[in-house]
Amino acid sequence: MKIICIGRNYSEHIEELQNERPDEPVVFIKPDSAVLPREQDFYIPEFTEDVHYELEVLVKIKKVGKHIDPKFSSNYYDQISLGIDFTARDLQTALKAKGLPWEKAKGFDGSAVIGKWVPKTRYADINNIDFALYRNGEPVQKGNTSLMLWKIDEIVSYVSKFFMLKKGDVIFTGTPAGVGKIHPNDYLSGTLEKEELLSVKIK
Ligand code: ZN
Repeated sequence: MKIICIGRNYSEHIEELQNERPDEPVVFIKPDSAVLPREQDFYIPEFTEDVHYELEVLVKIKKVGKHIDPKFSSNYYDQISLGIDFTARDLQTALKAKGLPWEKAKGFDGSAVIGKWVPKTRYADINNIDFALYRNGEPVQKGNTSLMLWKIDEIVSYVSKFFMLKKGDVIFTGTPAGVGKIHPNDYLSGTLEKEELLSVKIK
């Protein structure tokens, strides 16, 4: 499987990192080795002093697709979840300044936390669902999918122009505002419409 991630998909997050607003979705990939195995703690890697959480809504691709028309995108996924796109922000900032690829800052081992999958039919409108991240019980990130610059069906269509989508692929749809640094002994948990779908301990 591959993990396709969208960057800069919420305007308030673009502002907090002082990024330019993109004309097209920003896309990057994490390798399958980035997936943090379920129930495993996240160990802050030694090559960074500044790992940030980014809480994101995920979709899981259920069949092969290429050049998908946006009006058929919803046929290609039926499960959604929450994930954390752990980012070595110090490394990413240095790579961005040099115009170099981000992979070391975004695709390292354990950098993709994937929550419990739930059927999309549970939600009346997947373009209007609330999600939130809590650190040690305190809310730190809140979003709603209605605030996405590119909606889920547009993202599925867009990425399928470049990468053939395969069964089991996961798309991270971008993070809202409120990203921040993690510390050893933090406990992160994420909710989608108030239901907890992920949790991870930081070491
Ligand atoms: Zn992200």
